[in-house]
Amino acid sequence: MLEIRDLSVGILQTNTYVVFDRDSGEGIIVDPGDEAERIIDLVKRCGVRVRGIYLTHAHFDHLLAVRDLRSDLGCGFYLHRGDELILKLAQKYAREFIGRIIPPPPDPDGWIEDGQIIRIGESSCKIIHIPGHTPGSVCYLLEEERVVLTGDTLFAGSIGRADLPGGDLRQLRSSILDKLLKLPDDYAIYPGHGPSSTIGVERRMNPFVRSFVDSGRLP
Ligand SMILES: [Zn+2]
Ligand SMILES: [Zn+2]
Repeated sequence: MLEIRDLSVGILQTNTYVVFDRDSGEGIIVDPGDEAERIIDLVKRCGVRVRGIYLTHAHFDHLLAVRDLRSDLGCGFYLHRGDELILKLAQKYAREFIGRIIPPPPDPDGWIEDGQIIRIGESSCKIIHIPGHTPGSVCYLLEEERVVLTGDTLFAGSIGRADLPGGDLRQLRSSILDKLLKLPDDYAIYPGHGPSSTIGVERRMNPFVRSFVDSGRLP
């Protein structure tokens, strides 16, 4: 079984997740949004050997600590190729959205793909491509733990924006309906911002999800 710890970091309170196997100490970091020192502190307290840094998507608020963590921890940094352009625009977005001047993010050490399995000690995590919020958005599915890290695609009570550059509402809708809502109700969702929830609660209570479901039922 994997353990999941989270930290809310940076001005946009992005959820950073450390997912690790307690027996082997191996783990990954998902969405190191900012405050590298706090993330490193958590990694050390949990005794994690970080095998890689993974992004749900390349918006700047999910990657401001990548540069520091990558050099301090000596591990690679990975995302879906669909967000290659958005990664290149991270400096521009950080300046426009929060008025912050940042160095360019490092070049990725590799690209991740739909269906890819990441081994973490004796356990694993599966990548599912869920475009819409950005072209290269992915979620991380922990099947044994019945958890999905949904990034900015699905939140407790809300969904991600599709009106930012590279966003696509039709894709967002089908990623939520055809991929996330295909998961059983008891799966926990750990989003990129805000509190956790479950697939079942969002299926029943999330007004945006409900409108997608209802519009799918129209003739
Ligand atoms: Zn985003
Ligand atoms: Zn975000």
